[in-house]
Amino acid sequence: MSDKDQQEQGRTTQQDGQGNSGEKKEYEDVCFICRRPESKAGKMFHLPNNICVCDDCMHKTMDAVSQYDYQGMLSNPALFNMLNDQFTRKSDGDEGTGKEENQKGQAPKGFTNIGFINLADLGNDGIPRKQKIKKKSKEEKGKPILDIRSIPAPHRIKEQLDQYVVGQEHAKKVISVAVYNHYKRVATDTMDDIEIEKSNILMIGPTGCGKTYLVKTLARLLDVPLAIADATSLTEAGYIGDDIESVVSKLLAAADNDVDKAEQGIIFIDEIDKIARKKNTTSRDVSGESVQQGMLKLLEGADVEVPVGANSKNAMVPLATVNTRNILFICGGAFPDLDEIIKERLRKQTSIGFNAELKDKWDKEKDILEKVTVEDIRTFGMIPEFLGRLPVTCTLKGLNEEMLVRILKEPRNAILKQYQKLLELDEVKLEFSDDALEAIAKKAAQKDTGARALRSIIEEFMLDIMYEIPKDDNIGRVTITREYIEGTGGPLIDIRGNGYALEDKETGNPDTHTIIL
Ligand code: ADP
Repeated sequence: MSDKDQQEQGRTTQQDGQGNSGEKKEYEDVCFICRRPESKAGKMFHLPNNICVCDDCMHKTMDAVSQYDYQGMLSNPALFNMLNDQFTRKSDGDEGTGKEENQKGQAPKGFTNIGFINLADLGNDGIPRKQKIKKKSKEEKGKPILDIRSIPAPHRIKEQLDQYVVGQEHAKKVISVAVYNHYKRVATDTMDDIEIEKSNILMIGPTGCGKTYLVKTLARLLDVPLAIADATSLTEAGYIGDDIESVVSKLLAAADNDVDKAEQGIIFIDEIDKIARKKNTTSRDVSGESVQQGMLKLLEGADVEVPVGANSKNAMVPLATVNTRNILFICGGAFPDLDEIIKERLRKQTSIGFNAELKDKWDKEKDILEKVTVEDIRTFGMIPEFLGRLPVTCTLKGLNEEMLVRILKEPRNAILKQYQKLLELDEVKLEFSDDALEAIAKKAAQKDTGARALRSIIEEFMLDIMYEIPKDDNIGRVTITREYIEGTGGPLIDIRGNGYALEDKETGNPDTHTIIL
């Protein structure tokens, strides 16, 4: 850049610095750093987003920056001179840096490898996007989000759930009806003589039996925002942990900060059994009973002030008011040892009088959880006011081997279908023999983590298959056998173009062979 060019550049900046060339200003510029007005601090540097910095502060900042040898800059004399040049020019009367550079909000040329925070990212008001609340036009405000005719009937909801969730028939039925009623209530919004009560749901079932999966599928079908929160991290306001209102913040985030949309969403609170009242404790129960109490008003429906884009309220985050009256709350938990409480109650009931039964009758009962009453959950440690606000209770069954086999192959996005699709892209057919599936289910059942174990088991032995098969273009079909799962044999590999069928093995076709991977 020639001297003439530089002078020209300096002049344009000065013009800009004097206040957008010609436009009369009503207020003085104030330095963003020292807060002194233009009349005291002198001419200002104008940065993007209406930020002004006085000459002194700009020099101080640059001095501070030059204390550090950023990426070897100072040991490079050419670079150092260039840097010096840029910032001594203003004080020499050849004011400022270039206009174009200022407008782009970038560091002046010569600042290689140094990046400043781009204030433009923060928006004009300095608030990050995730903390902004969506604005609605007038027409949008009056429009109801749900139309009563568009809400699917319970049997339709269940039909769709059936495509994804295996078994759990009773739970699916209960949830379909509860959700249908809830959204009828929301859509009509006519609280005339008969006020329809909210149908929040409590789901009880062992880990990995599909509680979260059921709710996720449901929210996807209904196309409503869903927030999944964990009760373990919640604490009473003021204590370390997430505030109770943070569950509503999560929903607001899921609804893209659209308050109206969030007010009709679903909040799933997992591990609800972890906020049971602690037994034998003398200290304040900030993560147990207090959380239950704090949740009462949320469950029932109230206007709550929630932090936008953060987990707890503080001076730096904006707040939004959300009404929880139409938010459907689903609480889920494994409630360990609840079966013992139920058995105890049943034993007491049947041990006297003519109907007295054998003491160990209930010990063998498999679906004991179905007999749960509010009384049992109270004994477990939930407070009555809390349970009163979750009027619908449904229990999910633990998964047995037969159900695990079905989970492997039946749902629309079953794990086996996923692998089959992957290998299909290599034009290889993947099959599983029935006894192989049983072997996988047996292994998974031993782990006692429900359907979660299936994925890890399958991943483990599919690794070799997925690695070896693409090596050989001749392979047309792979059949996973029981022996392969149990580690005593290999899968059956069929070579392409032989009408590869299992019968080939019986006819002794040499092209069908077992390989050990
Ligand atoms: P939890 O009951 O502990 O919330 P999840 O719902 O998270 O368990 O289940 C874990 C995974 O197991 C799900 O992602 C899903 O793929 C699978 N799964 C569990 N139960 C079922 C089921 N009944 N039908 C289909 N898949 C299931």
